Amino acid sequence: MDIMEAKSKDLNDWLQRRATLRIEGRAFIDGAYRDAASGKRFDCISPIDGASLAQIAECGEADVNAAVACARRAFDRGVWRGLNPRQRKAVMLRWGALMRAHQDELALLETLDAGKPIADTTTVDVPGAAYCVEWFAEAIDKAGGEVAAADHHLVGLVTREAIGIVAAVVPWNFPLLMAAWKFAPALAAGNSVVLKPSEKSPLTAIRIAQLALESGIPAGVFNVLPGAGEAGKLLALHHDVDCLAFTGSTNVGKQIMQYAGQSNLKRVWLELGGKSPNIVLADCADLGRAAQAAASAIFYNMGEMCTAGSRLLVHRDIKDAFLDKLLVAARKYSPGNPLDPTTSMGAIVDQAQMERVLGYIDAGRDEARLLTGGARVKRESGGFYIEPTIFDVPDAQARIAREEIFGPVLSVITFDTIDEAIRIANDSEYGLAAAVWTSNLTTAHEVSRALRAGTVWVNCYDEGGDMNFPFGGYKQSGNGRDKSLHALEKYTELKSTLIRLR
Ligand code: NAD
Repeated sequence: MDIMEAKSKDLNDWLQRRATLRIEGRAFIDGAYRDAASGKRFDCISPIDGASLAQIAECGEADVNAAVACARRAFDRGVWRGLNPRQRKAVMLRWGALMRAHQDELALLETLDAGKPIADTTTVDVPGAAYCVEWFAEAIDKAGGEVAAADHHLVGLVTREAIGIVAAVVPWNFPLLMAAWKFAPALAAGNSVVLKPSEKSPLTAIRIAQLALESGIPAGVFNVLPGAGEAGKLLALHHDVDCLAFTGSTNVGKQIMQYAGQSNLKRVWLELGGKSPNIVLADCADLGRAAQAAASAIFYNMGEMCTAGSRLLVHRDIKDAFLDKLLVAARKYSPGNPLDPTTSMGAIVDQAQMERVLGYIDAGRDEARLLTGGARVKRESGGFYIEPTIFDVPDAQARIAREEIFGPVLSVITFDTIDEAIRIANDSEYGLAAAVWTSNLTTAHEVSRALRAGTVWVNCYDEGGDMNFPFGGYKQSGNGRDKSLHALEKYTELKSTLIRLR
C-alpha cells in the first residue's frame, strides 16, 4: 500500500480492518511459534482505548536458552552465514518486499499496540523498516575487505566476519523501526539474531518473524522473544550471546554493560536517551519554519522520540515573536484517535508512561510558566492522551529542562549570547542530537562543531531520515552507531590474516 492508498482509507476502514485482524502473541523460536515454556502470558493493552489486544508469551530462562541454542546451531552449521552475500541479499530483499506487501497489517498492529498515528505507521515506521532491510541487503554484496601494507614476504588480509549470536533488545517508541536498525545489519553480516521487543509493543516483531521464514531466512537464524525486562537481562547475562545491541533508557543501558562484565564480556552497543537542544539564534532567517520544526521536533510521535527537541533555546531578542508562532504550530498536534488518518498526535504508549509524563508536568508547574497544554485529554476513550505542553523555563537547571521526559513536553530556555547557548546546550549528560537555526554559514559551522551530539541539524530538525547517516550518541546517549555502513562494524569482528609467501 502506498502513501496515497493509506491516505484514502478513513477511520471506519481501519476499524473494520481491526475487527478481522488476527494477532499472534507467541514467541518465535527455531522457525516456529511457541508459547513460553512456563506457559506464562501477559496482556497486550492498546493505549488507544485501554482494551486488551492479545495475550503475549512471557519468555523466561528456558525460552532464552532455547532461542540462543538454536541461533548457535544455525550459526555453527553455516545455514545463513555460509551463503554467498548475494544469496543473503536476495532473501532479505524478499523479506523487505513481504513487509511492504503486509504494510497495512503491520501499520495497524503498530498503531493499535503503541498508539502511534496510522498516518505515520503507514508512511514512516513500516516502509522505513522495509527500506532498512533492503538497504543492508543491497549493501552486503558490495562490502569487501582490505589488503593491508605488509612486509614483502607477506600478504596481509583484513576481513570482517560475523560475530555470532546477536541479541537485540529494543524499546516501544518505534517498535519495528528500532528493531530493524539492529537486525537488518546483523543479519546481512551473517549473524543469528534473537530479538527481544518491548513488553509494551511486541506485536510487529512477532509478526515479521513469520515473514522472515517465508522469505527464506532459515529456522533458528531469526528468533523473537517477547517478555519483560527480565528476558533482556537474561540475554545480556547469557554466556553464549556474542553481542548485545540495545536501544532504550540510559539506566537500563548502564545495567546491560554490567551484565556483560558479569558474564562473557559480550560486545555491547547502546542507543540511549536524549535531551536534545534546538537553538534558534537571533539571525534565524525564517521564524515560521523554525517554529513549525520546533513543534514537530517535540510533538511528533507524542514526544516519544529519543531525538526529541525537548529543550528549545531561543535568543531573547526574538523570543516573543517566536513563541507566538510556536503556539500556533503546536495546535496542529491536537490528540486524536490514532486510527484516524487525519490524526497527527496519538496516544501515549501506556498508563505508566502517561502518569510519568503527567508527573513531570506537575513538577514543571512549580519551576516554570505553563504556556499551553498540561492536561490529560480524551479520558472517556479509556486511552492515554496528553495535550502538547510548553513551559517557559527561567532556569535551565530545572528538572523538566534536564531530565528526559519522553512525552509531549517542551522546555523553552532564553539566552543572550551564542556562547551561552552552546554552554547550556552541552550542559547535559546526554548528547544524542542538536539543532541550530541561523542565516550565517560561519556561525552554523562553528556552533555545530561546538555541539557535543551525534547528529546536528542546521536550519532543520529530524531530517535526513534515510539510511546513509550514522545515528547514535555522545556521552550517556550511548556508543556505536545504527544505520549506514558503519552499523556493520558493530556486528562483525575484524580479522587480520597474514600469509607468508616464502
Ligand atoms: P527501557 O530501557 O525501559 O526498555 C528498553 C528495552 O529494555 C525493553 O525491551 C525492556 O523490556 C528491556 N529491559 C528493561 N529492563 C531491562 C534489564 N534490566 N535488562 C535488559 N533489558 C531490559 O526503555 P523504553 O522505555 O522501552 O524506551 C524509552 C527509552 O529508549 C528512552 O530513554 C529513549 O530515549 C530511548 N531510545 C533511544 C533511541 C536511540 O536511538 N538513542 C531510540 C529510541 C528510544
